[in-house]
Amino acid sequence: TADKLARVKRNPTFGKITIDDIDYFKSILSPTSVLEKETCPEDLYLKYTTDWYNVFRANPAVILLPETTLQVSQILKHCNNRRLAVVPQSGNTSAAGGSVPVFDEIIVSTHKLNKIRSFDPLRGDLVCEAGCILQDLDNYLVERGYQIPLDLPARHICRIGGNIATNAGGIRQMRFGNLHGSVMGLEVVLPDGTILDNLTTLKKDNTGYHLKNLFIGSEGTLGLVTGISITTARIRYGVNVFLLGFDKFEHVVQTYALAKKELPETLSAFEVFDNDSVQVVQQQDYQEPAGTPFPIQENHHVYVVIETAGKEAKFEDQKADDFLALLHEQNLIKDGAIARSQADRTRFWSWRTKLPRAIVQTGPSSIHFDISLPLPLLYKLVEETRAWATAEGLIPHDILAIYGYGHVGDGNLHLTIPATRDDQKLTEKIDRFVYEWTARYQGSMSGEHGVGLMKAPYLAFSKSVTMIDSMRKIKDLFDPNQIMNPYKLFPNKDQEEEGE
Ligand code: FAD
Repeated sequence: TADKLARVKRNPTFGKITIDDIDYFKSILSPTSVLEKETCPEDLYLKYTTDWYNVFRANPAVILLPETTLQVSQILKHCNNRRLAVVPQSGNTSAAGGSVPVFDEIIVSTHKLNKIRSFDPLRGDLVCEAGCILQDLDNYLVERGYQIPLDLPARHICRIGGNIATNAGGIRQMRFGNLHGSVMGLEVVLPDGTILDNLTTLKKDNTGYHLKNLFIGSEGTLGLVTGISITTARIRYGVNVFLLGFDKFEHVVQTYALAKKELPETLSAFEVFDNDSVQVVQQQDYQEPAGTPFPIQENHHVYVVIETAGKEAKFEDQKADDFLALLHEQNLIKDGAIARSQADRTRFWSWRTKLPRAIVQTGPSSIHFDISLPLPLLYKLVEETRAWATAEGLIPHDILAIYGYGHVGDGNLHLTIPATRDDQKLTEKIDRFVYEWTARYQGSMSGEHGVGLMKAPYLAFSKSVTMIDSMRKIKDLFDPNQIMNPYKLFPNKDQEEEGE
């Protein structure tokens, strides 16, 4: 359970839910919006209480599904007065254990806050509610010639409120920048129930602090995001997807530099995955369409998926062919192909996007990292972790494999390690090796997934004492009763004193 893995004690200042609290929630919400364990169908209950990676199983006091911002405000005001702790939840795909309660916190889900409030076809400004599924927003925009400036393999499940709260990066961040840039405004319910309406669609507004930026990446610890205004991008129809095989990571770095130089207006994604990653997608038959072989025949050390997107196919196709020829000419790649039809693009991409699910399906709970590092060092982390785990005798007994993949374009690597058992000592040993290694090279222990529950004890590997102190002051200002997503993001005092 989450409390055991988190190594924390329940905050004794928090209240315990009573029948009166439940009656209050029932009085303000529709009957299907108050889910209690005893009466909720088990599969539905598990959807909210188990994280996507199947690591944490929670036991919340109740699950609430408000349909309006006003209802969220009423819920938080009541919880704050009664000191009942709350976990905001959207798609529950958090890769850091951020979206599930640790003890008996109340889940406030955004599932029913799922309306599009407005869309301006002139500028492409979208205003929507926090519970809209990312894929649904993209479908809505595609019909209008636009696309959402964010894409990640969890797009069918994750919701825009969760994306905002984690400052999600994903596979096209190198093209569209991060959410601090594309989000223009937010509507947020503060822990005491106050509605902070900053839902502007102004692109420029320098009238003081940019409060929306404080909530982007705040992981549900400062307030509950209910509304989002975001600038979207025109669709580019000339899309090429390259799949390339490399025998050295140095050549990946050189190819990246060349792609930035040769394809500056169109480069949209630059992703890497290694040979073990290909094997696991193949074993689990997760590629699309199922059963199809890997498009590149020979085994290579690592593979790269590059996507370019420009206005017209005829120009883009020529540029893509020229770029592939240049890579061959400079002896940077061993093997490569370009996908031009939608079916082929999906086929090439699936080897990367289906990877997290394929690894989870192997069975053992996975220990996963999302590290930011200077680009040339990105894959060195995988190699050195493998060498260390072998020298320690962990492979193949405790650790079955080590997968390295991620967003080269943003210097962000996922290192995923399925371990044979839920062994806390083993997890800590691996965590410590990876975070010490990362700190040595001034990397970040979370490039995009956030700190959540999993990484809270290690925050000091990436943030100084002064920075953590300043973050705590902000937290205390917005949430003096500490009811919002407790035990997440910040290390508990003992862990901090350990000097971690
Ligand atoms: P949840 O998991 O429900 O919540 C995430 C955090 O945000 C929690 O701390 C929660 O308390 C808080 N929160 C949720 N909703 C709100 C709200 N309305 N107001 C305030 N706080 C809120 N992440 C990336 O950045 N890039 C990737 O490429 C990527 N790929 C992924 C691939 C897979 C297969 C999976 C399972 C996950 C991936 N992730 C990735 C991680 C995850 O999808 C993202 O963090 C996503 O943004 C979370 O959205 P969600 O709706 O599921 O939020």
